[in-house]
Amino acid sequence: MALIVQKYGGTSVGNPERIRNCARRILETQRAGNQVVAVVSAMSGVTDTLIKLAKEVSPEREPVEREMDVLLATGEQTTIALTAMAINALGGKAVSLTGAQAGISTDGVHTKARIVNITPDAVKKMLDEGNIVMLAGFQGKTASGEITTLGRGGSDLTAIAMAAAIKADLCQIYTDVDGVYTCDPRVVKSAQKIPEISYEEMLEMASSGSKVMQSRSVEFANKFGVRFEVRNSMNHNPGTIVKEESPGMESVVVRGVSLERNQAKVTIDDVADRPGISAAIFGAIATANITIDMIVQNVSFDGITDISFTLSAADLAKAETALKAVLPGLGDKAQLRTQSSIAKVSVVGIGMRSHSGVAAKMFKALADAKINIQMISTSEIKTAVIVDEAEVENAARVVHTAFGLDA
Ligand code: ADP
Ligand code: ASP
Ligand code: MG
Repeated sequence: MALIVQKYGGTSVGNPERIRNCARRILETQRAGNQVVAVVSAMSGVTDTLIKLAKEVSPEREPVEREMDVLLATGEQTTIALTAMAINALGGKAVSLTGAQAGISTDGVHTKARIVNITPDAVKKMLDEGNIVMLAGFQGKTASGEITTLGRGGSDLTAIAMAAAIKADLCQIYTDVDGVYTCDPRVVKSAQKIPEISYEEMLEMASSGSKVMQSRSVEFANKFGVRFEVRNSMNHNPGTIVKEESPGMESVVVRGVSLERNQAKVTIDDVADRPGISAAIFGAIATANITIDMIVQNVSFDGITDISFTLSAADLAKAETALKAVLPGLGDKAQLRTQSSIAKVSVVGIGMRSHSGVAAKMFKALADAKINIQMISTSEIKTAVIVDEAEVENAARVVHTAFGLDA
């Protein structure tokens, strides 16, 4: 008998028929002689609808984050109950548990809480009584009993963290594609399914826009050595195994291509070239709780320089407000410029550590397609560029082809 954690994403539980499909699969897994904990997301679109409703009733200010969490947690609470009902109707025995009931304790950072620890006693007891445990993804509770959520896509994290806590033999992430592909298969039709990928590559892909897995969940899996498989809830095709790096993995130079839309660029021209300027700029950004991505500073000339950075377009207005307040202290000529409608394309692969020429090949492919590169950044296993939003899909396609990733 194996202990299996499965996770079904929003599309997989998107309507009553699909919930019944998941219920059947979960029940089949149990009937094959296993204990099953099944994590579910909210039905597709529900979390977005709840966020929209919150904004509609609170147009004057950002809704209080504590209340956001009380609201958002209802999406997953709905699906655990419905899936448990479907399993029971099919002749199985299921109970649903919220994150709090399942012993998932988090810190108090509402809307992006971190898991502090998991006390899986209730889960284990219910499994031992022969139940399928339907566990609400994306949520937990603080030590003082407040409801929290784990950030968008957080049901992946619930599944991986629970798999680690109960020492599951298998963790399966069921979604609406067959696994992790060399690029988003909805954008690059010729993308191929990757049979095995290292945590590190999966993490770089996830954090550079391949939203098939929540990046924090991959970080957690890496830290606690949770191997998991990404598969399709609508078929029985083998998926992608995400695991520790193995010999031979480095022979593939580029594993995949990611794209990330809705980015924006901030440039502060003609800032004084003296100590404290960057600290003032990024201090103001940090105080406003804004996460930034790439940073570029020009070589200084005549005592002045330019600094650019990118961030999520959703944070641009907040960043402008924060920077206008510090602009007078950045030098007499300092000016603020912003640009939205940009996007990022990244190539990722652990093979980059030992192979040269990746950047040159990427830039040549973009040049041949007449796509202008606005910014560049690199890490040990990633090369990323900023391009115009309108060109991002074409950029991903030509880069995908250049690295021989097409099927
Ligand atoms: P779920 O609701 O199951 O969590 P998500 O929408 O979060 O599903 O993630 C699945 C989606 O991720 C796919 O439909 C696909 O469009 C997108 N995606 C982006 N990059 C990739 C990739 N490299 N491989 C597979 N899917 C990807
Ligand atoms: N329902 C949440 C979201 O849409 C969590 C998840 O689906 O993983 O982000
Ligand atoms: Mg997801």
